[in-house]
Amino acid sequence: MANQHVLVAVAWPYASAEIHVGNITGSYLPADIFARYHRLAGNHVLMVSGSDSHGTPVTVRADEEGSTPLEVYKRFHNEFLELFQDVGLTYDLFTTTHTQNHFKVSQMIFLSLKNAGYLYTQTEKQWYSEAQDRFLPDRYVEGTCYICGYEKARGDQCDNCGNMLDARELKDPRSKMDGSTPVLKETEHYYIDLSKLEDQVVTFLENREDYWRSNVVRQSLGWIRSEGLRGRPITRDLGWGIPVPIEGWEHKSLYVWFEAVIGYLSAPIEWSAITGDEDAWHDWWYNPDARAYYFIGKDNIPFHAIMWPAQLAGAGQWFGKLFEERDGTQLTLPYDVPANEFMNMEGRKISGSANWGVWALDYLTRYDPDPLRYYLTVNMPETRDSDWDWDEYHARNNNELVANWGNLANRVLSFAHKNWDGIVPDPGELREVDKDILAVIEEGFETVGSLIEAVKLRAALSEAMRLAQQVNIFLDQTAPWFEIKSDKQQAAKTIYTAMRCIDSLKVIFAPFLPFTSEKLHQYLGYSDPLFGEQVVETHQDNLGEHSALRYVPDGASGSWEPSQLEPRKAFKKPEPLFRKLDKSIVEEERARLGTPRG
Ligand SMILES: [Zn+2]
Repeated sequence: MANQHVLVAVAWPYASAEIHVGNITGSYLPADIFARYHRLAGNHVLMVSGSDSHGTPVTVRADEEGSTPLEVYKRFHNEFLELFQDVGLTYDLFTTTHTQNHFKVSQMIFLSLKNAGYLYTQTEKQWYSEAQDRFLPDRYVEGTCYICGYEKARGDQCDNCGNMLDARELKDPRSKMDGSTPVLKETEHYYIDLSKLEDQVVTFLENREDYWRSNVVRQSLGWIRSEGLRGRPITRDLGWGIPVPIEGWEHKSLYVWFEAVIGYLSAPIEWSAITGDEDAWHDWWYNPDARAYYFIGKDNIPFHAIMWPAQLAGAGQWFGKLFEERDGTQLTLPYDVPANEFMNMEGRKISGSANWGVWALDYLTRYDPDPLRYYLTVNMPETRDSDWDWDEYHARNNNELVANWGNLANRVLSFAHKNWDGIVPDPGELREVDKDILAVIEEGFETVGSLIEAVKLRAALSEAMRLAQQVNIFLDQTAPWFEIKSDKQQAAKTIYTAMRCIDSLKVIFAPFLPFTSEKLHQYLGYSDPLFGEQVVETHQDNLGEHSALRYVPDGASGSWEPSQLEPRKAFKKPEPLFRKLDKSIVEEERARLGTPRG
């Protein structure tokens, strides 16, 4: 496919916790590989996400630190922007839910659902702190578990018996804020009537059953068939968030589960305004031929495979009318939700409080980004949980990246540079053996491309490595290092062919290993980069300033097609693409796990 509109929608990280390698391999990296490939293949990619800045994870952290939710969200958000640049995640826009634009779009979705008859209100009891004159979200209450008797159960869940709890039934409830005893008080909320949307969601899922990952579609349909869809609250008594757009309700907020996913729609609208073509987002959101892919972790499946399609189907044609007086247009439903499982760390679950993990910004102070991207792709938890193991990291870096791919590129370019004075050798007529290996690599564009399009990224990268190995075998058989002494013209054919294969492999590896592919591209004498640049920009609206990361494609010259390397073209003396790592890093890194960070 080419010239297709591809929306790459990526999970929105909570702006209250540091990002670890499990988060990256779970959703951000697969999205970036997919987006980079589709850009090279000539499709119109829009990759969006942002910081999930509202809700209790942010307010709890602010209360713990004695700061404000605004300060907490901004601190984490700015770290995300730094990390994503350093690890090469090319968001067309990575913004935040705390923007005027996102407020407006979320409120429009709410009003669209209300106009279409999918909302109702209901009064219920909730814990209320008289001392603080506020309702307490479930996470702010603790007490004795009514199932196992554990005395420090959280409002929403008991850490002792693991059961989900109804906070209102806790015994001996206490406010986590000040220890005071809350009282149950009535409060009214808006609910989305999911039962009315159940048929549409089931049809949506059944239409995708044959090509979705089986765990995603099975889990979603299984959940609906066993429990059915019921009403779910979409507002709550919390001051930090998006005000409910109904008179008299402004002091309540839209629930974060409801508003954060709306970012997949609001971020393209913000992107369009920034890039100066206000209606550009229509090509992804009102276009029946556009494809929307959602890259998320398995814990988010119900929100993306059930709730979000229900919100979109329910808001339906009202959204266009309310937002821009546009009639009769449906919003694009997800085409695929290739959710990943989890990555563990050396056999245990990654944990922030236990410092059991590899924190991405910290990792980058010691290592380069491409080996991280490589290891996280070969270990991507596509069908089952995977494990980060430092022994394996070390071995794959040295035996695969360095020995197979890095050395191939380095020794061929160095040899050519030395023996042909920095000019690509002229091969004259190519031999059968040359044409054969060129054909093998050319076919790789088909096989690797198809695997990436099917979001089988582990298999795609393994196929790319196999192709590099084929070129190594070609060199072993033709042995240009000896050939040059007896017949320089034969060696020129071999080296030209190998350089052209490397020039192609550079593109095939580029979605996975963009930093080193870009370097190799320069060594091969090209002046325009394969990809564009990422910039951080600051925007102003009535909520204040917010910074955002934006991919600027200007000048990008990469294209998903085999090299036509020109003979007699000048190229540069190469540097090694990857560093060989000493075995000692394994024990050093293991010693960091579980120890407090200074
Ligand atoms: Zn319990």
